[in-house]
Amino acid sequence: MTSNAAHPQTLALHAGYRADPATGSVAVPIYQTTSYQFQSTEHASNLFALKELGNIYTRIMNPTCAVLEDRITALEGGSGALAVASGQAASAISLQNLARVGDNVVSSTDLYGGTWNLFANTLKDQGIEVRFVDPADPEAFARATDDRTRAYYAETLPNPKLQVFPIAEVAAIGRSFGIPLIVDNTAAPLLCRPFDHGAAVIVYSTTKYIGGHGTSIGGLIVDGGNFPWAEFPERQPALNTPDPSYHGAVWVEAVEPIGPVAYIIKARTTLQRDLGAAFSPFNAFQVIQGLETLPLRIFEHSRNAAAVADFLSSHPAVDTVIYPGLQDGEVRRRADTYLSGGYGGLVGFELTGGRGAGRAFIDALELFYHVANIGDARSLAIHPATTTHSQLSPEDQQLTGVSDGYVRLSVGIEHIDDILADLGRALDRATGASLAAE
Ligand code: PLP
Repeated sequence: MTSNAAHPQTLALHAGYRADPATGSVAVPIYQTTSYQFQSTEHASNLFALKELGNIYTRIMNPTCAVLEDRITALEGGSGALAVASGQAASAISLQNLARVGDNVVSSTDLYGGTWNLFANTLKDQGIEVRFVDPADPEAFARATDDRTRAYYAETLPNPKLQVFPIAEVAAIGRSFGIPLIVDNTAAPLLCRPFDHGAAVIVYSTTKYIGGHGTSIGGLIVDGGNFPWAEFPERQPALNTPDPSYHGAVWVEAVEPIGPVAYIIKARTTLQRDLGAAFSPFNAFQVIQGLETLPLRIFEHSRNAAAVADFLSSHPAVDTVIYPGLQDGEVRRRADTYLSGGYGGLVGFELTGGRGAGRAFIDALELFYHVANIGDARSLAIHPATTTHSQLSPEDQQLTGVSDGYVRLSVGIEHIDDILADLGRALDRATGASLAAE
């Protein structure tokens, strides 16, 4: 990009790309190739030795994916990014990049169900312990820390609780120990810029708001370039000791000439190389299309969700509405500190008729899709206890905030009158159905 534009609306359209040098194509081309012709044997060996940066093989890098990576880096104010096959891969790799067998991570309890499973079971099986703590008390992160703690992990705007995470408080605690805070910002892109509050790494499921159209699974890991890894050699051995999987490279030293990118270069050149969670160039094209209009969509999602929360809170069939704009006290202060321009597109609620009414409500929706997704331009609804969070034990469901009658809405960008009409109709039918069942 030739200008010094810094506004997200402009960066989302221009960062990381200005017309294809070969063809002049203004839309980002889909480089649907597995491999790249080396100019000479010397060029090839320089690329492999990281003496020169360039394309080697699409499992590790691809020019279409690179535009997406550069664009999100510019939007977040980071130093580099890696596109991976899904949000799940982004969460897993973000931690595996620092933690090895016998190490541990301290995580907020308020997590997407899939991330909970990854942490409680799969990472545990791989020898990485995840210690869950209640984010209501930031000091709980310090109390759970020991010499083998390598990272803290949290979601900015976790559903179902929709209580914004205390990013600056926990990032500051982590920095005093040499521990980076990794933030999943999937539900709040553009509304929150976690690096501005001290987070060191951001992960995204691009499947949600960034892609925005429900077409492609994908994930991103963004390096803030703001964490002093080299100052904590004992706390962060993965980046400070020779890496046998890459000619004994010490990552903080090896990347010094390129910039503060040790974390993200290691993720790309070792884990992405070995685990192979590659992002397809076609999906990158789709997600770039989504990202270009994210600044328009995310604020419209937020406006519509605010109107839905208002509507539900004055409806007689609704018991509780869960929405950041309706919270008070410390939880509300966090929402107002870390989100700007809106509270996001997610709204939760419980019907007075409990589980039965919740299910009847979902079955009665006509405009809202009943799907296991959030962040689509279309409005979506689900009953988490029997779907997204169903593999959690009842106790773990309670910890993550999933109660029996909870319904989650991902409010879309349709006209608000049509959204409210569908909700009103479904509430009437669900209430009628629950009365009839009594
Ligand atoms: N993080 C959050 C907050 C999510 O909601 C999800 C998916 O629902 C994920 C991560 C996982 O993303 P993906 O489905 O792209 O693997």
